[in-house]
Amino acid sequence: MATKGNIGVTSDNIFPVIKKFLYSDHEIFLRELISNAVDATQKLKTLSSVGEAKGDLGDLRVRVLIDKKKNTLTVSDHGIGMTAEEVDKYINQIAFSGAEEFLGKYKDKTEAIIGHFGLGFYSAFMVSDKVEIFSQSYLPDAKAVHWSCSGDPEYTMEETIKSERGTDVVLHINEEFKQYLEDATIESLLRKYCKFLPVEIAFGMKKEWKDGKEVVVRDENGKEVENIINNTNPAWTRKPAELKDEDYKAFYHELYPMQMDEPLFHIHLNVDYPFHLTGILYFPRIKSNLDVKRNKIQLYCNQVFVTDEVENIVPEYLTLLHGVIDSPDIPLNVSRSYLQSDNNVKKISGHITKKVADKLAEMYKNDKEDFEKKWDDIKLFIQFGMLTDEKFYERAIGFALLKNIQGEYFTLEEYKAKIKDAQTDKDGNLVALYTQDPDAHYTFIERAKEKGYDVLLMNGELDVHQISQFEQKAEEGKLRFVRIDSDTIENLIRKEDQAKDTYSNEQKEGLRKAFEGLLPETDKLRYFVSCEAAASDALPVFLTQNEFMRRMKEMSQHQQGMSFYGQMPDQYNLVINTSHPLIQELVGKMQSEEVEEVPETKEGEEPKAAVKKTVYTLTGEDERLHQLFDIALLASGQLKGESLAKFVNRSVALLEN
Ligand code: ADP
Repeated sequence: MATKGNIGVTSDNIFPVIKKFLYSDHEIFLRELISNAVDATQKLKTLSSVGEAKGDLGDLRVRVLIDKKKNTLTVSDHGIGMTAEEVDKYINQIAFSGAEEFLGKYKDKTEAIIGHFGLGFYSAFMVSDKVEIFSQSYLPDAKAVHWSCSGDPEYTMEETIKSERGTDVVLHINEEFKQYLEDATIESLLRKYCKFLPVEIAFGMKKEWKDGKEVVVRDENGKEVENIINNTNPAWTRKPAELKDEDYKAFYHELYPMQMDEPLFHIHLNVDYPFHLTGILYFPRIKSNLDVKRNKIQLYCNQVFVTDEVENIVPEYLTLLHGVIDSPDIPLNVSRSYLQSDNNVKKISGHITKKVADKLAEMYKNDKEDFEKKWDDIKLFIQFGMLTDEKFYERAIGFALLKNIQGEYFTLEEYKAKIKDAQTDKDGNLVALYTQDPDAHYTFIERAKEKGYDVLLMNGELDVHQISQFEQKAEEGKLRFVRIDSDTIENLIRKEDQAKDTYSNEQKEGLRKAFEGLLPETDKLRYFVSCEAAASDALPVFLTQNEFMRRMKEMSQHQQGMSFYGQMPDQYNLVINTSHPLIQELVGKMQSEEVEEVPETKEGEEPKAAVKKTVYTLTGEDERLHQLFDIALLASGQLKGESLAKFVNRSVALLEN
């Protein structure tokens, strides 16, 4: 006899809520139903292993079937099944009361429930007009049960005949959700959520192309082969000892079928305490910020796909990695904002950070040479981590590397020791020199080498940020990084016995004015002219660029709120090398004149007496000054267009003289 009843305790408000999910991720209904089918199957296996379920378990595949004529989608399992009492308890009572409790809690926060929160079995009503359950319990004398509900609190339940053990859940798909009756839609959803479930999921028959036709694949006995969606034994669930490098690589491509590149290396996560976590993280080659994040880390809960949007769940730099993380402690049915604040999720994230750092430290310790080979490909990741996660910085400082232009690698401590003797300035501060472009800075690098200095190569996207961080961590001023072209080498690392010139300020002023006179009005802002006693064999005139300004400009490209620097024009110092014979010759040619100058007086001040002053001027040397200035531009790669053509012509003319 059929039973009629009203579902749940006070369930009038449940169905409107389920309908609300119509606006969110309805597709998760399939994940929910298949998870239930898999759970029921796993429970049966457990009962069998302890002898409570007798006999051969037989076929345990979960099947998904579409009937287009009847507009139904069925999820069918051979698990433990349910008796009528169990249906009443688990479907009629528990599920609703659970949802009700949740509703009560989040009444005012519909945002929190729309999203990844699923109602388990009841999510089926998101896409169905009617849902039916046919179930036959594994218990020896149980009668099969048929439950049916049309999306209102009323259900019917009656005895039925079902030949096989297990449960069929039949969804009568709502007109609006016809897409869930399409093979292609269901297949892609199954591949998204069920790719690695521990029980085989079959969807239709396996097909292949033969002689231009799609035909069903047959096994050696001529039997049609089912289309199995999932790999029930994915690499991360296996013991690391069982797996070879090839297995890890093969799994990488299984995860990301579109990815051609091989990963650099991997980390197999396996934690039992204080929470359960397994997974495999892969280090991809990271060339620039652009090509990352195409393949995302996938989050699983007991092999059920949860999300691949792990930003905010794990620290941002970890999202540069690929792979899977699986933890039963990651709540499956909650919204993302809830995930972020979840304590387990936080612990998991902290743990992964530690594991990643440990692995890198171990690799560095075990095989420095190999680690150095990989460095250029992983440094963006490591620097990103150091810049954004203090804990990671502390761990990574032991293996984060600096590379010099000869291609030698050092940790920061090693490097400091290496340059300590030669590159400590007169105030006891360490000065590290670097270049982003050894070709462009060739002449500067040569000068540094002559002095026995070392030059680092800093051509990575985050290098400038990284060195700023190193400077901040060092005791105030004790460690500075300066680009090799940011001043004369003598000024970059000042020593006690600094060379000085013997010229008066007036003479230098005259020199400066002579060069300034060459600059077109528009360029006056860009060049700041000064005199320095550099080495006598350095160039007579050269350009340097202030470290601070340049660095701010570079950093402004990555950081918001710094656009002020980004908009400033590039500024250069035009350095006149007073140690150079050519410049000394020019000084010799300067004419001096005694002038009387009345100092300016401010309002209300007594007029000041005139002072005598010597003014130096250089005339008739414009050609040569131009040539010197252009050589400075040329040496720093800035002589272009018309200026370059003029320089070439002038040089030829000079040779002809
Ligand atoms: P949850 O799975 O989160 O417990 P559900 O609403 O999805 O919540 O299911 C409620 C209960 O109904 C399950 O815990 C299980 O006992 C039972 N159940 C659901 N689907 C099946 C199934 N296919 N086979 C056996 N039992 C099932």
